[in-house]
Amino acid sequence: MEPTYTLADLQNWSTITQDGAPIRLGIFGDPIDHSLSPQMQNAALKACELEMRYARFHIEPEALEEALRLLPALEFIGINLTIPHKLAAAALVDELDPFARSVGAINAIRLEGGKLIGFNTDGPGFSRAIRHEFSVDLRDLRVLLLGAGGGAGRAIAYQCAAENCERLVLVNRTAEKAEQLAADLKQSLADTRVAGPVARLQAIPWDEHALRQQIANVDLVVNATSLGLRRSDPPALSAAILAPHLMVYDTVYTRARTPILVAAEEAGARGANGLSMLLHQGALAFERWFDRDAPVETMRAALVQ
Ligand code: NAP
Repeated sequence: MEPTYTLADLQNWSTITQDGAPIRLGIFGDPIDHSLSPQMQNAALKACELEMRYARFHIEPEALEEALRLLPALEFIGINLTIPHKLAAAALVDELDPFARSVGAINAIRLEGGKLIGFNTDGPGFSRAIRHEFSVDLRDLRVLLLGAGGGAGRAIAYQCAAENCERLVLVNRTAEKAEQLAADLKQSLADTRVAGPVARLQAIPWDEHALRQQIANVDLVVNATSLGLRRSDPPALSAAILAPHLMVYDTVYTRARTPILVAAEEAGARGANGLSMLLHQGALAFERWFDRDAPVETMRAALVQ
Protein backbone atom coordinates (compact mmCIF):
# COMPACT_ATOMS: atom_id res chain seq x y z
CA MET A 1 0.00 0.00 0.00
CA GLU A 2 1.10 3.58 -0.74
CA PRO A 3 2.22 5.57 2.34
CA THR A 4 -0.15 7.89 4.20
CA TYR A 5 1.17 11.46 4.41
CA THR A 6 0.55 14.09 7.13
CA LEU A 7 0.64 17.86 7.63
CA ALA A 8 4.31 17.56 8.69
CA ASP A 9 5.06 15.90 5.34
CA LEU A 10 3.36 18.74 3.44
CA GLN A 11 5.40 21.26 5.49
CA ASN A 12 8.60 19.48 4.39
CA TRP A 13 7.40 18.34 0.96
CA SER A 14 10.70 18.98 -0.86
CA THR A 15 12.43 16.49 1.46
CA ILE A 16 9.87 13.71 0.87
CA THR A 17 11.20 11.02 -1.42
CA GLN A 18 8.61 10.28 -4.07
CA ASP A 19 9.06 7.14 -6.13
CA GLY A 20 7.76 7.57 -9.63
CA ALA A 21 5.47 10.33 -10.85
CA PRO A 22 4.97 13.39 -8.57
CA ILE A 23 1.99 13.60 -6.22
CA ARG A 24 -0.35 16.35 -7.48
CA LEU A 25 -3.69 15.10 -6.07
CA GLY A 26 -4.93 13.49 -2.87
CA ILE A 27 -7.55 13.03 -0.22
CA PHE A 28 -7.62 14.63 3.27
CA GLY A 29 -9.46 12.79 6.04
CA ASP A 30 -9.35 11.61 9.66
CA PRO A 31 -9.46 8.58 9.68
CA ILE A 32 -8.26 7.98 6.13
CA ASP A 33 -6.84 4.46 5.88
CA HIS A 34 -10.16 3.03 4.65
CA SER A 35 -10.36 5.35 1.63
CA LEU A 36 -10.66 3.66 -1.78
CA SER A 37 -10.15 6.93 -3.69
CA PRO A 38 -6.36 6.50 -4.23
CA GLN A 39 -6.75 3.16 -6.04
CA MET A 40 -9.61 4.53 -8.16
CA GLN A 41 -7.95 7.87 -9.07
CA ASN A 42 -4.49 6.38 -9.66
CA ALA A 43 -6.02 3.89 -12.11
CA ALA A 44 -7.66 6.84 -13.93
CA LEU A 45 -4.41 8.85 -14.05
CA LYS A 46 -2.56 5.86 -15.46
CA ALA A 47 -5.24 5.09 -18.07
CA CYS A 48 -5.13 8.73 -19.25
CA GLU A 49 -1.28 8.75 -19.25
CA LEU A 50 -1.20 11.69 -16.85
CA GLU A 51 2.25 11.66 -15.22
CA MET A 52 1.22 12.22 -11.62
CA ARG A 53 -0.13 10.38 -8.58
CA TYR A 54 -2.97 10.71 -6.05
CA ALA A 55 -2.08 10.16 -2.36
CA ARG A 56 -3.74 9.64 0.99
CA PHE A 57 -3.28 12.31 3.71
CA HIS A 58 -4.14 11.87 7.39
CA ILE A 59 -5.12 15.44 8.29
CA GLU A 60 -6.67 16.15 11.68
CA PRO A 61 -9.32 18.91 11.98
CA GLU A 62 -6.93 21.43 13.55
CA ALA A 63 -4.43 20.86 10.69
CA LEU A 64 -6.90 21.36 7.84
CA GLU A 65 -6.47 25.09 7.26
CA GLU A 66 -2.68 24.98 7.10
CA ALA A 67 -2.68 21.84 4.93
CA LEU A 68 -4.99 23.56 2.41
CA ARG A 69 -2.91 26.75 2.39
CA LEU A 70 0.25 24.80 1.53
CA LEU A 71 -1.20 23.25 -1.64
CA PRO A 72 -0.80 26.08 -4.22
CA ALA A 73 2.96 26.39 -3.66
CA LEU A 74 3.32 22.61 -3.98
CA GLU A 75 1.71 22.64 -7.44
CA PHE A 76 -1.26 20.50 -6.49
CA ILE A 77 -4.09 20.23 -9.02
CA GLY A 78 -6.84 19.19 -6.64
CA ILE A 79 -7.86 17.54 -3.40
CA ASN A 80 -10.77 15.45 -2.16
CA LEU A 81 -12.16 15.87 1.35
CA THR A 82 -13.80 13.22 3.46
CA ILE A 83 -14.95 12.80 7.07
CA PRO A 84 -14.75 15.14 9.02
CA HIS A 85 -13.63 17.97 6.71
CA LYS A 86 -16.50 18.57 4.27
CA LEU A 87 -18.22 21.40 6.17
CA ALA A 88 -15.07 23.05 7.57
CA ALA A 89 -13.32 23.09 4.19
CA ALA A 90 -16.28 24.90 2.59
CA ALA A 91 -15.56 27.82 4.93
CA LEU A 92 -11.80 27.82 4.18
CA VAL A 93 -11.64 27.88 0.35
CA ASP A 94 -11.32 31.07 -1.72
CA GLU A 95 -14.41 30.37 -3.84
CA LEU A 96 -17.34 27.96 -3.89
CA ASP A 97 -19.32 26.93 -6.93
CA PRO A 98 -23.07 27.66 -6.64
CA PHE A 99 -24.17 24.10 -5.83
CA ALA A 100 -21.51 23.75 -3.10
CA ARG A 101 -22.57 27.12 -1.67
CA SER A 102 -26.16 25.91 -1.27
CA VAL A 103 -25.12 22.59 0.26
CA GLY A 104 -22.58 24.23 2.57
CA ALA A 105 -20.22 21.25 2.21
CA ILE A 106 -17.52 20.28 -0.30
CA ASN A 107 -15.85 17.00 -1.16
CA ALA A 108 -13.41 18.40 -3.72
CA ILE A 109 -11.19 21.39 -4.48
CA ARG A 110 -9.59 22.50 -7.72
CA LEU A 111 -6.54 24.79 -7.62
CA GLU A 112 -6.73 27.60 -10.15
CA GLY A 113 -4.16 30.41 -10.32
CA GLY A 114 -3.20 29.88 -6.67
CA LYS A 115 -6.84 29.91 -5.53
CA LEU A 116 -8.77 27.07 -3.93
CA ILE A 117 -12.13 26.53 -5.68
CA GLY A 118 -14.48 24.26 -3.69
CA PHE A 119 -17.10 22.08 -5.32
CA ASN A 120 -19.39 19.19 -4.43
CA THR A 121 -19.70 16.05 -6.54
CA ASP A 122 -21.47 13.93 -3.87
CA GLY A 123 -24.89 15.21 -5.03
CA PRO A 124 -24.34 14.80 -8.81
CA GLY A 125 -22.48 11.51 -8.16
CA PHE A 126 -25.50 10.21 -6.23
CA SER A 127 -27.78 11.15 -9.13
CA ARG A 128 -25.63 9.27 -11.66
CA ALA A 129 -25.49 6.28 -9.28
CA ILE A 130 -29.30 6.10 -9.03
CA ARG A 131 -29.62 6.24 -12.82
CA HIS A 132 -27.02 3.50 -13.18
CA GLU A 133 -28.39 1.21 -10.45
CA PHE A 134 -32.14 1.54 -11.05
CA SER A 135 -32.44 3.02 -14.61
CA VAL A 136 -34.54 5.92 -13.36
CA ASP A 137 -34.00 9.67 -12.96
CA LEU A 138 -34.39 11.51 -9.66
CA ARG A 139 -37.00 13.82 -11.22
CA ASP A 140 -39.36 10.83 -11.47
CA LEU A 141 -38.88 9.65 -7.90
CA ARG A 142 -40.51 10.17 -4.53
CA VAL A 143 -37.55 10.03 -2.14
CA LEU A 144 -37.30 9.31 1.59
CA LEU A 145 -33.88 10.41 2.86
CA LEU A 146 -32.49 9.12 6.18
CA GLY A 147 -29.59 11.19 7.52
CA ALA A 148 -30.81 14.49 6.13
CA GLY A 149 -28.66 16.42 8.61
CA GLY A 150 -25.22 15.12 7.59
CA GLY A 151 -22.90 16.28 4.80
CA ALA A 152 -23.85 13.50 2.37
CA GLY A 153 -27.53 13.83 3.23
CA ARG A 154 -27.52 17.58 2.54
CA ALA A 155 -25.80 17.08 -0.83
CA ILE A 156 -28.37 14.42 -1.78
CA ALA A 157 -31.31 16.58 -0.68
CA TYR A 158 -30.06 19.58 -2.71
CA GLN A 159 -29.52 17.31 -5.72
CA CYS A 160 -33.08 15.96 -5.44
CA ALA A 161 -34.33 19.56 -5.33
CA ALA A 162 -32.10 20.65 -8.24
CA GLU A 163 -33.58 17.82 -10.34
CA ASN A 164 -37.12 18.68 -9.20
CA CYS A 165 -37.85 15.22 -7.78
CA GLU A 166 -41.50 14.28 -7.33
CA ARG A 167 -41.43 14.26 -3.57
CA LEU A 168 -38.83 14.56 -0.80
CA VAL A 169 -39.26 13.34 2.79
CA LEU A 170 -36.41 14.29 5.13
CA VAL A 171 -35.58 12.26 8.26
CA ASN A 172 -32.73 12.76 10.71
CA ARG A 173 -31.89 11.47 14.19
CA THR A 174 -31.50 15.10 15.33
CA ALA A 175 -34.87 16.22 13.97
CA GLU A 176 -34.11 19.98 13.98
CA LYS A 177 -31.53 19.54 11.20
CA ALA A 178 -34.07 17.89 8.89
CA GLU A 179 -36.63 20.60 9.72
CA GLN A 180 -34.11 23.35 8.92
CA LEU A 181 -33.19 21.64 5.64
CA ALA A 182 -36.86 21.40 4.68
CA ALA A 183 -37.22 25.14 5.36
CA ASP A 184 -34.12 25.87 3.24
CA LEU A 185 -35.45 23.80 0.31
CA LYS A 186 -38.97 25.20 0.42
CA GLN A 187 -38.47 27.60 -2.50
CA SER A 188 -36.91 24.94 -4.75
CA LEU A 189 -39.72 22.43 -4.25
CA ALA A 190 -42.55 24.92 -3.97
CA ASP A 191 -45.16 23.66 -6.43
CA THR A 192 -47.50 20.79 -5.55
CA ARG A 193 -46.42 18.20 -8.10
CA VAL A 194 -47.68 15.14 -6.26
CA ALA A 195 -51.34 14.25 -6.32
CA GLY A 196 -53.12 13.15 -3.14
CA PRO A 197 -53.03 14.07 0.50
CA VAL A 198 -49.22 13.97 1.04
CA ALA A 199 -46.96 17.01 1.12
CA ARG A 200 -44.33 17.35 -1.63
CA LEU A 201 -41.60 18.34 0.81
CA GLN A 202 -41.64 17.52 4.51
CA ALA A 203 -39.46 16.65 7.47
CA ILE A 204 -40.77 13.83 9.66
CA PRO A 205 -39.59 12.51 13.03
CA TRP A 206 -37.52 9.32 13.11
CA ASP A 207 -40.19 7.08 14.65
CA GLU A 208 -41.85 3.93 13.43
CA HIS A 209 -45.35 5.40 13.18
CA ALA A 210 -44.24 8.42 11.11
CA LEU A 211 -42.05 6.26 8.84
CA ARG A 212 -44.79 3.66 8.23
CA GLN A 213 -47.17 6.42 7.13
CA GLN A 214 -44.72 7.49 4.40
CA ILE A 215 -43.66 4.18 2.86
CA ALA A 216 -46.67 3.77 0.52
CA ASN A 217 -45.97 7.23 -0.92
CA VAL A 218 -42.25 6.92 -1.69
CA ASP A 219 -40.28 4.99 -4.35
CA LEU A 220 -36.68 5.40 -3.19
CA VAL A 221 -35.31 5.09 0.36
CA VAL A 222 -31.78 6.43 0.84
CA ASN A 223 -29.57 5.72 3.85
CA ALA A 224 -27.19 8.68 4.19
CA THR A 225 -26.51 8.03 7.88
CA SER A 226 -23.33 6.37 9.11
CA LEU A 227 -25.42 3.40 10.31
CA GLY A 228 -24.02 0.33 8.57
CA LEU A 229 -20.38 1.38 8.65
CA ARG A 230 -19.86 -1.01 11.57
CA ARG A 231 -20.75 -4.66 11.12
CA SER A 232 -22.69 -4.61 14.42
CA ASP A 233 -24.91 -1.66 13.38
CA PRO A 234 -28.66 -2.28 13.13
CA PRO A 235 -30.27 -1.47 9.76
CA ALA A 236 -31.33 2.18 9.46
CA LEU A 237 -34.82 0.80 8.64
CA SER A 238 -36.02 -2.73 9.42
CA ALA A 239 -37.56 -5.23 6.98
CA ALA A 240 -40.87 -4.80 8.82
CA ILE A 241 -41.07 -1.15 7.68
CA LEU A 242 -39.70 -1.61 4.13
CA ALA A 243 -41.92 -2.91 1.29
CA PRO A 244 -41.49 -4.74 -2.05
CA HIS A 245 -42.20 -1.71 -4.31
CA LEU A 246 -39.17 0.21 -2.93
CA MET A 247 -35.71 0.86 -4.29
CA VAL A 248 -33.23 1.13 -1.38
CA TYR A 249 -29.90 2.91 -1.85
CA ASP A 250 -27.28 2.75 0.91
CA THR A 251 -24.51 5.35 0.66
CA VAL A 252 -22.39 3.00 2.82
CA TYR A 253 -20.10 0.86 0.65
CA THR A 254 -17.96 -1.08 3.11
CA ARG A 255 -19.83 -4.32 2.31
CA ALA A 256 -21.90 -5.57 -0.62
CA ARG A 257 -24.78 -6.42 1.74
CA THR A 258 -25.01 -3.70 4.36
CA PRO A 259 -27.62 -4.04 7.16
CA ILE A 260 -30.30 -1.98 5.37
CA LEU A 261 -29.71 -3.92 2.12
CA VAL A 262 -30.19 -7.21 3.99
CA ALA A 263 -33.45 -5.77 5.37
CA ALA A 264 -34.47 -4.61 1.85
CA GLU A 265 -33.89 -8.10 0.46
CA GLU A 266 -35.94 -9.60 3.28
CA ALA A 267 -38.79 -7.18 2.43
CA GLY A 268 -38.59 -8.06 -1.29
CA ALA A 269 -37.24 -4.62 -2.28
CA ARG A 270 -34.41 -3.87 -4.72
CA GLY A 271 -31.19 -2.45 -3.27
CA ALA A 272 -27.72 -1.13 -4.10
CA ASN A 273 -24.76 -0.01 -2.00
CA GLY A 274 -22.75 3.24 -2.19
CA LEU A 275 -19.91 2.01 -4.37
CA SER A 276 -21.59 3.52 -7.46
CA MET A 277 -21.87 6.91 -5.71
CA LEU A 278 -18.20 6.72 -4.74
CA LEU A 279 -17.32 5.92 -8.36
CA HIS A 280 -19.36 8.74 -9.88
CA GLN A 281 -18.36 11.43 -7.36
CA GLY A 282 -14.74 10.48 -8.15
CA ALA A 283 -15.29 10.52 -11.91
CA LEU A 284 -16.97 13.95 -11.70
CA ALA A 285 -14.06 15.33 -9.62
CA PHE A 286 -11.58 13.97 -12.19
CA GLU A 287 -13.56 15.71 -14.94
CA ARG A 288 -13.35 19.05 -13.08
CA TRP A 289 -9.62 18.70 -12.37
CA PHE A 290 -8.65 17.87 -15.95
CA ASP A 291 -11.49 19.27 -18.10
CA ARG A 292 -11.84 15.90 -19.80
CA ASP A 293 -13.98 12.78 -19.55
CA ALA A 294 -13.03 10.32 -16.81
CA PRO A 295 -12.24 6.69 -17.68
CA VAL A 296 -15.25 5.46 -15.68
CA GLU A 297 -14.93 1.76 -16.51
CA THR A 298 -11.24 1.73 -15.49
CA MET A 299 -12.18 3.45 -12.23
CA ARG A 300 -15.00 0.97 -11.59
CA ALA A 301 -12.66 -1.98 -12.17
CA ALA A 302 -10.08 -0.49 -9.77
CA LEU A 303 -12.76 -0.11 -7.07
CA VAL A 304 -14.09 -3.66 -7.22
CA GLN A 305 -10.62 -5.21 -7.23
P1 NAP B 1 -21.84 13.21 8.76
O1 NAP B 1 -21.86 14.57 8.16
O2 NAP B 1 -21.08 12.95 10.01
O3 NAP B 1 -23.39 12.79 9.01
C1 NAP B 1 -23.73 11.61 9.68
C2 NAP B 1 -25.25 11.40 9.59
O4 NAP B 1 -25.56 10.12 10.18
C3 NAP B 1 -26.06 12.44 10.36
O5 NAP B 1 -27.29 12.65 9.70
C4 NAP B 1 -26.27 11.73 11.71
O6 NAP B 1 -27.42 12.19 12.41
C5 NAP B 1 -26.49 10.33 11.24
N1 NAP B 1 -26.23 9.32 12.28
C6 NAP B 1 -25.03 9.02 12.84
N2 NAP B 1 -25.19 8.01 13.74
C7 NAP B 1 -26.51 7.69 13.73
C8 NAP B 1 -27.30 6.74 14.44
N3 NAP B 1 -26.75 5.92 15.35
N4 NAP B 1 -28.62 6.67 14.18
C9 NAP B 1 -29.18 7.48 13.25
N5 NAP B 1 -28.49 8.41 12.54
C10 NAP B 1 -27.17 8.52 12.78
O7 NAP B 1 -21.30 12.12 7.72
P2 NAP B 1 -21.41 12.13 6.13
O8 NAP B 1 -20.14 12.60 5.54
O9 NAP B 1 -22.68 12.80 5.73
O10 NAP B 1 -21.50 10.54 5.86
C11 NAP B 1 -22.70 9.87 6.12
C12 NAP B 1 -22.68 8.51 5.41
O11 NAP B 1 -22.60 8.71 4.00
C13 NAP B 1 -21.49 7.64 5.79
O12 NAP B 1 -21.94 6.32 5.96
C14 NAP B 1 -20.57 7.72 4.57
O13 NAP B 1 -19.86 6.50 4.42
C15 NAP B 1 -21.57 7.89 3.46
N6 NAP B 1 -21.01 8.57 2.27
C16 NAP B 1 -20.87 7.84 1.13
C17 NAP B 1 -20.37 8.44 -0.01
C18 NAP B 1 -20.23 7.64 -1.27
O14 NAP B 1 -19.60 8.10 -2.21
N7 NAP B 1 -20.82 6.46 -1.33
C19 NAP B 1 -20.00 9.80 0.00
C20 NAP B 1 -20.18 10.51 1.19
C21 NAP B 1 -20.66 9.89 2.33
P3 NAP B 1 -27.30 13.44 13.45
O15 NAP B 1 -27.44 14.68 12.61
O16 NAP B 1 -28.43 13.24 14.36
O17 NAP B 1 -25.96 13.33 14.12
